[in-house]
Amino acid sequence: MPVRCSRCKEDYGEIYIRYMRQYLCLNCFNKFFESRVKKTVEKYRMLDKGSYIGIGLSGGKDSAALLTVLKKLYPEKRYIAIHLHHGINEYSEDSYEKARLLAEALDVELHVFKYEDEIGITIPDVKRTKYGRKICSTCGFIRRWALAKAARELGVDILATGHNLDDTLEVMLSSFISGDYRSIYRLKPVLPPFPPNNYWKVKPLINSPEYEILLYVSFNRIPVKSLNCPFGDDARSMRRKDILKYWEEKEPMIKFQLFSSFTKKLIPILDRIYEDGDLEYKICKICGGPSSSDICSTCRRINYIKNKIGLKV
Ligand SMILES: [Zn+2]
Ligand SMILES: [Zn+2]
Repeated sequence: MPVRCSRCKEDYGEIYIRYMRQYLCLNCFNKFFESRVKKTVEKYRMLDKGSYIGIGLSGGKDSAALLTVLKKLYPEKRYIAIHLHHGINEYSEDSYEKARLLAEALDVELHVFKYEDEIGITIPDVKRTKYGRKICSTCGFIRRWALAKAARELGVDILATGHNLDDTLEVMLSSFISGDYRSIYRLKPVLPPFPPNNYWKVKPLINSPEYEILLYVSFNRIPVKSLNCPFGDDARSMRRKDILKYWEEKEPMIKFQLFSSFTKKLIPILDRIYEDGDLEYKICKICGGPSSSDICSTCRRINYIKNKIGLKV
C-alpha cells in the first residue's frame, strides 16, 4: 500500500526522512531541502557581504546542488562558477562537461582554471613524484590553493563551496583525532576575509546531509559527473564516514547534534583562540596569496613537482 506524503497529503511519499519520521513527495522534498539552505544562508548572513558570488563548481553533486539552489533562491545575485580542470584524462573531461552543461542551463558564467595552462602541471604529473603516494591530500591542497587564486583574481565578494554535513563532520572527527584544532576552526559556516581585503567564504550546504544532496540532484536531473577519479577515493575519509553512518543508524539525530554543539559551543571558544585578524602574514611572490614567508607552501610544493618532472620553475 503506497504511503501519502506527510506534508501535502496528496502525492505519494517517495522518500522517507528517518530523523523526522516523515514520508515526502518529490515536490515537498525539494521545498524541504531548499528551505533548509535558505534558513542556513539567512541565519549566518552568508550572502549579505556583497553581490558578486563565486561558486566552486567541480562537476560533482554538492557544488551542482549548491549552484542550482542559490540561483533559484537568490536570482538577483551575480554568480560566477569556477571550475578547476585537473587534467585527469576522461575523468576531468566528464567533470568539465557536466559543469559546463549546468552553468549553461542556469545561465551562469563559467570560469575554467585549467591546471595545465595556469600552473603547467596536471594531477597525473603529481603521481610521478614523491607526492604521488599521498595523491588525494596533495590534490586537495592544490585544489584549495587554485580555487583561492581564481577567486582572488576574479575579485569575487563571496566564495561559496559545496561542503556538506557529512564532509564537515568527517573532517571534524579526523582533526580531533590528530589534535589539529585550527582545522576544526576552519570548518565554520562563514569565514571572514583573510587578508582583510579578500573575499568571504561561505558553506550554505554545511548542514545538508550528503544523502539528501544526492537525492536532490537525481530527482531534479541536475548534470553531474558520472566517472570516479582513477586515483581513487580517500580510503580513510570513507572509513570515517562509515563510522558516522553506523552511529546514525543507532541515533538518527546524531549528525545534527554534533553540528549543533560544534556551532553553538565549540566555535565561540575557537573564535577567541584562532581569530585570523591578528595573524602576521606576507604576500606570496608567486600566487599573491597570504603566506608565512615570501613564497607560500603550496607554490613551493608545485615548484618541487615541476622540477621533478623536468619543467622549468
Ligand atoms: Zn508532498
Ligand atoms: Zn603562492
